[in-house]
Formats: sequence, C-alpha cells, structure tokens
Amino acid sequence: MASDRIVHNKTRREPATAAAPPVTEGRVLVLGATGAQGGSLARYLLGHGGSVRALTRRPDAPVALALSAAGAEVWPGDLDDVASLEHAMAGCDWVFGVTNFWEHGPREVDHGKNIVDAARRAKAPHLLLSTLESAEQTSRGAIAVAHTETKAAVEAYARASRVVATYVHLPFYFENFLVHFRLQRGDDGALSFGFPQGDAPLAGIAVRDIGPAIAAIARERGRHVGEAIEIAGDELRGDEYAAEFSAALGCNVRYEHVPVDAYRRLPFQGAEELATMFDYTRRFVPTRAGEIAAARRRYPETQTFASWARANRDLIERSILS
Ligand code: NAP
Repeated sequence: MASDRIVHNKTRREPATAAAPPVTEGRVLVLGATGAQGGSLARYLLGHGGSVRALTRRPDAPVALALSAAGAEVWPGDLDDVASLEHAMAGCDWVFGVTNFWEHGPREVDHGKNIVDAARRAKAPHLLLSTLESAEQTSRGAIAVAHTETKAAVEAYARASRVVATYVHLPFYFENFLVHFRLQRGDDGALSFGFPQGDAPLAGIAVRDIGPAIAAIARERGRHVGEAIEIAGDELRGDEYAAEFSAALGCNVRYEHVPVDAYRRLPFQGAEELATMFDYTRRFVPTRAGEIAAARRRYPETQTFASWARANRDLIERSILS
C-alpha cells in the first residue's frame, strides 16, 4: 500500500532540536524500515539521534542506501527466515515489527509468527508489533476483512507466546489519497474521489506521524505491556475530506459514496478487499476520537488531514488522474 518511501539522495542525519521530544533510548531493530511504517519510525529516530538497525531483503536498494546514509545500520534479513530475524534482534533493546498483507496475503501470518518466534528465541526485551483488531470479532461475525484477520491472528499468537509486546493499530494513511484513492478529474473538469464509506467518519494518519507516535509509545513501553494502542491523527467523513481537499487546492472537490458491491467489481487488484474494509469501517467503527486525542497528547505535532493536505498540495496536484 501507500508509502512515503525515502528517495535516493544524500540524506544526512539531522541534529536533535531543542523542541524535539527525548528520543527513545537504546538500539531498535526496525522491520519494514524501507516501507511506510518502519520507514517513518526509522527516519524519525535517526533524525533525533536514535540508534537504528534497519532490516531489509535488499540492502543495496536506493531506499536502504538512503537509510544507511542517514545513520542506520542496514541489516539483511527476510521475514521468511526466522534465523535471520533472530540474528538481527541480537543486542537490540526493542524491535518494531510489521508484516505486509499487500505483498504476501495470508502469508503475513507466518511472517508475524516468525517475528514473535525470533523475539522469543533472541530474548528481545520488547516487541512493538503493528497489528489490527479483527473486523470479524468487532462486528460479531458480520464481516471478516482478510488483512485485519491475519494481523489479529498474529497478535493472538504473540499474546499466547511469552514475548513482552505492545501492539500498535494504524488506520488509513492519508498518503493513500496519492496512490490508491487519487482525485479524478471528470469530463466536466470537476475533481472527485469515492469509496464505500457512506457518511461515516474514516480515521486516518499521515505516514510522517507514525514514527513519532510509535517512538512515544516505545519511550514508555514498560507501561504498555500487553496493550493494543490505536493511533490516529484525524477522522473525517468523505464530504469533510473533500472540503479539506477543496480548501488546500483552491477548487471544488467532491466525494462520492460508491456502493460496496459496485466497488468490489472495480477492475483493480485488491478492490474486493478494500470494499470489504470500507464496509467494515463504515458500519462498525463509529469514531476514533479518543484515540486521536491520545495520539495528539503523545505527539502534539500529529497532523490533521487539513494540515497534511495543505502541506502536500503539490503532491496531491501531481497525483490527480485525468
Ligand atoms: P510498505 O510501505 O508497503 O513496505 C513494505 C515493507 O515490508 C518494506 O519495508 C519491505 O522491506 C518489508 N517486507 C515485505 N516483505 C518482507 C520480507 N519477506 N522480509 C523482510 N521485509 C519484508 O509497508 P507498510 O505500509 O509500512 O506496511 C504494510 C502493512 O501496513 C500492510 O500489512 C497493511 O495491511 C498495513 N496497513 C496499511 C494501511 C494503509 O492505509 N495503507 C493502514 C494500516 C495498516 P524490503 O522490501 O526492503 O525487504
């Protein structure tokens, strides 16, 4: 899914600023460090003097080289290879783990179990694992969403194991609007976007804010053992997202609810899965207001969608489909 991947340039380690919160202590192994979640965490920690070991299957890829240039210890490894994970965890004070449904489908359960098994074998002091609540459980069996059930299965496996862990649950990235839900220019020149969310609010977060949120939890990880913490930066109805797009771009943007069955039939890979996800969030996730307030207490600079849209006006404009 969407990621604000590091571009291949001469990124340098930024000095910590006086305004910066204290960085989490110790060395962290970041899985998925070349992706959205792990990348946000790695960049945030490196920018604040943190010590990061960044696991990747492709240490020579530009994104890995950029992490190295920013001060990370780039470490080869594969979620399919539990020994490589155990090796990477040695000497680390905590581990951030994430699995990728969109590349591996249900195999992300095996990957998650490998992370947990490796953490147990390596005696990793603390695992922060990116998982999700089971839609099937929350909806009391009404809707199962494949990529939430897999992550909930990983969380259940970790809970049943003896690892010391905290679970972070992340919502829709705002950056999805740049890739998977781009604004579309109609024949009449008007801009619109649509998905099966009706007029229910949809929680979201800027990818840049994921790292600081996880780091803030990690700083107090001893107080969060066994907790599942939902992180979100904002929640808006479709028409409210549209209004913020309109304000940022200076032209009218319209949101259209797409009926779930129509969305399922759209000709792109993942349409069925996303349709089911929206059906779940529309019907069974009334609000994340409490989680948003908590996230902002932990990291006051957490962006609203309005501030993200204004800051990313150029990227939004470049992503428009005509
Ligand atoms: P991403 O940007 O797509 O990047 C995927 C990361 O996973 C890369 O760093 C990749 O590393 C790593 N990876 C994949 N397979 C691997 C393997 N076999 N061994 C080692 N590393 C592997 O990913 P992301 O968005 O951070 O996280 C994906 C997860 O986020 C998905 O499961 C999705 O369900 C969940 N999620 C997405 C959203 C959303 O709105 N998009 C919201 C909440 C949760 P290398 O390629 O460098 O090896």
